[in-house]
Amino acid sequence: MLMYCIMTRLIKVDAVNPDMALIRIAADVILKGGLVAFPTETVYGLGASTYNDDAIRRIYAVKNRPMDNPSIVHISSFNQLYEVAEDIPSELEERLKVAWPGPLTVILRKSSRISEVASCGLSTVAVRMPAHPVALALIRESTPISAPSANISGKPSPTRAEHVIKDLWGKIDLIIDGGETFFGVESTIIDYTKKPPVLYRPGPFTVEELRRIFGEIKVPEQALGLGQFKEALAPGMKYRHYAPDKPLIVTECSSLDGLVKLTLDLASDEVKRGKRVVVLCSSETCSTYVKAGFKVIEAGSRGNLYTVAKNLFHSLRLIDSMDVDLAVAEGYPEVGIGLAIMNRLRKASGYSMVKCTT
Ligand code: AMP
Ligand code: MG
Repeated sequence: MLMYCIMTRLIKVDAVNPDMALIRIAADVILKGGLVAFPTETVYGLGASTYNDDAIRRIYAVKNRPMDNPSIVHISSFNQLYEVAEDIPSELEERLKVAWPGPLTVILRKSSRISEVASCGLSTVAVRMPAHPVALALIRESTPISAPSANISGKPSPTRAEHVIKDLWGKIDLIIDGGETFFGVESTIIDYTKKPPVLYRPGPFTVEELRRIFGEIKVPEQALGLGQFKEALAPGMKYRHYAPDKPLIVTECSSLDGLVKLTLDLASDEVKRGKRVVVLCSSETCSTYVKAGFKVIEAGSRGNLYTVAKNLFHSLRLIDSMDVDLAVAEGYPEVGIGLAIMNRLRKASGYSMVKCTT
């Protein structure tokens, strides 16, 4: 197979007050059909103009993303919502004014402006207004931007420009380095064409917040990442995701003592089998594994699960860079953003979960 390498430019901007001259350079790349990786408050996106089919096809080629898995359309205003979607229920705009800009993606009927390529042949479109000054400015200066996460398909999503550089340098036109992303896990997705709306992917916008704004929300087991299921409700649910190259096992237990014991036992069993193990733990528990002689990656604090979410994908990428054969990761309570953390961890492990017996 012939491999093409193109020149990738890297520009660094302040996340809160980006230099508009630099943003306009990136916007020009988008308008000319190029690919730009940019920070959002969730993860880095790999963007192309929603209205340029060739550019969108290139995204799929460089990411090695299946052509039946549509990307989210990122917008910067409510006018653009009406440009890309139609049959929008009258109550929705008011509700979205509470949630947007923010880490919530809504699936709606697509408008005729969204091509078959941009929608992967579906009659619906996933839309989001990101709460990141760089992303918003880039869209404002160009056009609605279709963007999946800026990683090679199946790998952990990028939360730092260095992750994008590792996966996509020489394959895309421009990378905007706006520092570490804020939440570190991808947006919450709900399907608003269903009644009640259905949660497809848990994210930083929690189920508790969704229910406050939208009322009843259906949470199918597919959204929890509990394992293989008969039917994928949305295209993205079919694919393996977020996975490090090395095996990962997730431990789950409702009591913290039980969780630590289970994790220690499992990790020790692997050592007896001659494996070199790293434990993904929390600031509250890591010292126990260190005392037992294990290498550790500290993901964040159980007292603030947002810190765990923020470091999660970086931690998963670290596993592959370490001199170990496999990783054992502690699970987290499925409340608030913990639901998104567990969804990503379970998928990253290829559903290799071990539960405690108590
Ligand atoms: P990513 O771009 O990698 O953050 O993933 C976007 C997710 O949104 C994928 O899981 C897609 O399958 C999902 N998605 C995008 N558009 C639609 C749609 N029209 N209907 C259902 N799911 C969608
Ligand atoms: Mg992705």
